[in-house]
Amino acid sequence: MTVLCLVEQDIDGAADASLRALAFSRELAASSAVAGGRAVGSDVAVGSDVAVGSDVAVGSEEADSGDAEPVGSSEAPGSPAESLAAVVFGSAAGAPADALAAAGVTDAYAVESDLLAGYAPVAWAHALARLIATSSATAVVAAATDRGNEVLAHLGAITGLPMAANCTSAARTSDGRYRLVRHRWAGSLLEDAVLDASPALLTVAVDAVAATPAAVPAAITVHAFRPDLAAEDLAVRATESAERAGGVSLATARVVVGGGRGVGGPEGFGPLEELAGLLGGALGVSRVVTSQGWRPHKQQVGQTGTRISPELYLACGISGAIQHMAGCMSAKHIVAVNTDPDAPIISHADYAVIGDLNQVIPALVTALRARAGLS
Ligand SMILES: Cc1cc2nc3c(=O)[nH]c(=O)nc-3n(C[C@H](O)[C@H](O)[C@H](O)COP(=O)(O)OP(=O)(O)OC[C@H]3O[C@@H](n4cnc5c(N)ncnc54)[C@H](O)[C@@H]3O)c2cc1C
Repeated sequence: MTVLCLVEQDIDGAADASLRALAFSRELAASSAVAGGRAVGSDVAVGSDVAVGSDVAVGSEEADSGDAEPVGSSEAPGSPAESLAAVVFGSAAGAPADALAAAGVTDAYAVESDLLAGYAPVAWAHALARLIATSSATAVVAAATDRGNEVLAHLGAITGLPMAANCTSAARTSDGRYRLVRHRWAGSLLEDAVLDASPALLTVAVDAVAATPAAVPAAITVHAFRPDLAAEDLAVRATESAERAGGVSLATARVVVGGGRGVGGPEGFGPLEELAGLLGGALGVSRVVTSQGWRPHKQQVGQTGTRISPELYLACGISGAIQHMAGCMSAKHIVAVNTDPDAPIISHADYAVIGDLNQVIPALVTALRARAGLS
């Protein structure tokens, strides 16, 4: 019995998100070894206005969850420990075996196919569907990245299994079901749910758990896996990708400098970019900015953009609409720079500078350049 985790290797922030998903999967595999199981992951505090919903059954008529005893209870073990397996797309020779072993992976399946030169969501899902049988998987887990959610949604459609997205915790109950907590409503709601299906298809909210290594690295075996793929599986596939122009990934940056409509236009982002560079961070923007064509969509933070969880989010000229906050509410600290003391973002901020960003940001840049000994 195996928990199977999809590992993305090369897309912005995905490698880190996949390490987190592996940590989540490792705990899920360990928790499945006892009757009842225990929750893995942590209940993430999502802003101050979190509501915890009532039990919702996913893929089931009833919501009764079964027992959820903590690990280490006096109950006898119900099943042997499950193993943790990873799925990577690419050659077995190129699989990051050391990193996977450090995460506790005992078996890595490298999906090799002459037809799979790039990302192809339906083909990836078909490969996973075949690996479920090969590995006797009881759960298939992926990071809740764009790709992770898309591939598992296709896997759900192919297998007829329900899929639970954006989980922050999961526990296998004594009756073989899964008790979950997951983000709903763009993260403003935490929902308790019961997933009544096997294998369970889960994606892990990217900031739900830390990317911790296993206590003891695993002895890993890498298997080359060559699925039979049909031409129609390749109907949707990436044929080229825009290179990321270096720098820090927005999804995993420890510092994000955000700019909104208050920046005034495309030329106004120069000082914000310089500030982000001085702080070793990334630039993020609001949807108004991308809708106006001032900056590319890949820099958008929010419900329909990237979710960020930096140590510091410096939001400049951003009002703090609910759809924007959905993408940045996991930031450890928010500092707002805004001319309007009543802007919604002020109530979310740890600190606020009520002032014109055209004065505040250049002053910050000057101070940081001086501290760094730059002219
Ligand atoms: C379905 C849906 C999905 C959406 N998804 C997203 C999303 O993913 N991300 C997102 O960001 N939005 C999203 N939106 C849009 C969202 O509702 C807001 O319209 C948007 O976030 C506002 O952007 P803003 O804060 O830059 O602009 P505004 O709301 O216009 O705010 C500009 C702010 O700048 C301040 N300001 C002006 N001049 C200065 C200055 N010189 N110095 C300092 N401050 C100044 C103003 O006081 C104001 O607070 C979505 C909307 C919908 C309906």
